[in-house]
Amino acid sequence: MGTSYASFLGDWVLTLKNLLLPIFCKKCGLRLLTEENGFFCPTCWELSPRIQRPFCTVCGKPHPGAVGFATQRNFPCADCRAEKRLPYRRIYGAAYYEDAVAEAIKLFKFNDKSRLAGPLGRLMAEFASRELECDEYDYLTPVPLHRVRRRARGYNQSELLARGLLPIFPRAQLDDSLQRIRPTRVQSRLKTEAARRANVRGAFAVANGNHLRGKCVLLIDDVITTARTVSECARALRDAKVAAVDVFAAALAVPRFSDVLHPAAP
Ligand SMILES: [Zn+2]
Ligand SMILES: [Zn+2]
Repeated sequence: MGTSYASFLGDWVLTLKNLLLPIFCKKCGLRLLTEENGFFCPTCWELSPRIQRPFCTVCGKPHPGAVGFATQRNFPCADCRAEKRLPYRRIYGAAYYEDAVAEAIKLFKFNDKSRLAGPLGRLMAEFASRELECDEYDYLTPVPLHRVRRRARGYNQSELLARGLLPIFPRAQLDDSLQRIRPTRVQSRLKTEAARRANVRGAFAVANGNHLRGKCVLLIDDVITTARTVSECARALRDAKVAAVDVFAAALAVPRFSDVLHPAAP
């Protein structure tokens, strides 16, 4: 009773606030009356492309070679078949790093908009309930920020996503034993692969991780560009004797399926 009154009052306050201080879709400029998608109108949010099958069962990238085998679960792409020693089992990504989802992740990460944990988390939850074996995981482990950056931002965006996802993982607990032991630069701002590799090498370690021994961990990240960061995290978890690490990101920075099939002329 009290709760529903509070939520009614909350809605009413929000509506009044939006009347007095209108907010607009960050993508198309439409005036927003609700904030269910953070700062985006329902159309822009729904049109932001999600990753659908067939995708590679190791790197999670859309996988044109598997067209017609869409129901196959165990189908790695050529790159991943050639890769022998990955520290993680597989990567899942819920959406392409494009359009409203890309805008949302940038706001979430660099502009102090923690409210976007809601819509981005729901996007991940929809994907997870369709594609992941949710009861397999013992821990959800967010990709950590260095404590200096964490203090400056006030929150770790991956941790907010992981917390929001807990209800759909029936056995999993949040784990914060993975730590970023030295500050690193933002990977997407580095130009070369060598610079990215050097930036994160040895940057992560597990502290007090005895409970992780032999367990199954799902590493949570906001966006994956080259998988260097999650590889280093997975390596640190494997050093702590974790049995298996899978990775789950809100978005993957990969070409669209149609671009892979019909590359644009240069
Ligand atoms: Zn819009
Ligand atoms: Zn692959």
